[in-house]
Amino acid sequence: MSNKNLGGKIYFNYSIKKLNWLNIGGSTKIYFKPDTLQDLIEFLKLYQNEKKFFILGAGSNVLFKDDTFEGVVIKLSKNFSRISLLNENIIVAGSGVLDKSLSEFAAENDLGGFEFLSCIPGTIGGGIRMNSGCFGSEFKDILISVQAINRFGEVLTIQRKDIIFDYRSCNLSKDLIFLSASFKGNKKKKEEIKEKIKNLKSKKEEAQPTRVKTGGSTFKNPIKQTDKKVWEIIKESIPGNTQFGDAIVSNKHANFFINKGNANYKDMKKLIDFVKESVKKKTGINLDLEIVLVE
Ligand SMILES: Cc1cc2nc3c(=O)[nH]c(=O)nc-3n(C[C@H](O)[C@H](O)[C@H](O)COP(=O)(O)OP(=O)(O)OC[C@H]3O[C@@H](n4cnc5c(N)ncnc54)[C@H](O)[C@@H]3O)c2cc1C
Repeated sequence: MSNKNLGGKIYFNYSIKKLNWLNIGGSTKIYFKPDTLQDLIEFLKLYQNEKKFFILGAGSNVLFKDDTFEGVVIKLSKNFSRISLLNENIIVAGSGVLDKSLSEFAAENDLGGFEFLSCIPGTIGGGIRMNSGCFGSEFKDILISVQAINRFGEVLTIQRKDIIFDYRSCNLSKDLIFLSASFKGNKKKKEEIKEKIKNLKSKKEEAQPTRVKTGGSTFKNPIKQTDKKVWEIIKESIPGNTQFGDAIVSNKHANFFINKGNANYKDMKKLIDFVKESVKKKTGINLDLEIVLVE
């Protein structure tokens, strides 16, 4: 099947290793990079019956397998990365916009509430799916509505009140591709916003590893049975030098797992399973994965 308008945007057996923060993974049977909504609609007409679909944002919370992903990976192009101010306290952002760009845009427009986004290396699309957050704020706190397209090419707008968010998750169908979202902020002085961003960033740098190949927090906080953070429990449950191939646990933050060179999926998965089992053995706690395993 082919469509001349989609030429140059569909790739076959495309390597996904460089498209994610962990730098792990084989290839995908089909890789699609739409420039426009029309591209997406036409693509979905041709490929909607593919069994597996995966929408990739910045790839900062995903772990791909080493072999071929037998389906479609879709990554929105730059055209889905526009930001605009709708009125004095509402921002509309494409799903491909980086969280930190939204945070900077809000600061330039004297809108507070978006500061925490300067510390998350993902996109708006990934942030909504994961209900990402830090320092006491999450996507759910600023979201007004999401525009999305389903597998049948229908575009819909979903209001915040109709979405159930939980810790690093939401109940929106996995079939949806988020296109854009609107967010509400509160009027605040630019200087105060910038100061807050600076503080949050330095707190984050102090606590978590930077400039490394990682997928962020591997397991979800908080845990019902204890007030301890996951990183503390992990630290108490495994030997300090735990390593499988090039997959290691960060010294700085034990819930961040790092590919220190050429780790593959098998190494990382062994590390994940080992940590999960060790924590279960030592504390009886069943950790929940935060990282998305793409299978
Ligand atoms: C160094 C580092 C620090 C981090 N710190 C934090 C933190 O402080 N707080 C936090 O919550 N997370 C943190 N993370 C994790 C990660 O950055 C967030 O979960 C982020 O929101 C994921 O966005 P992404 O665009 O990278 O999504 P991806 O990792 O590409 O995908 C994540 C999920 O979102 C879905 N998705 C992505 N785009 C779309 C779309 N357009 N439509 C539908 N679904 C989509 C994917 O299918 C997948 O299920 C960190 C990660 C790293 C590497």
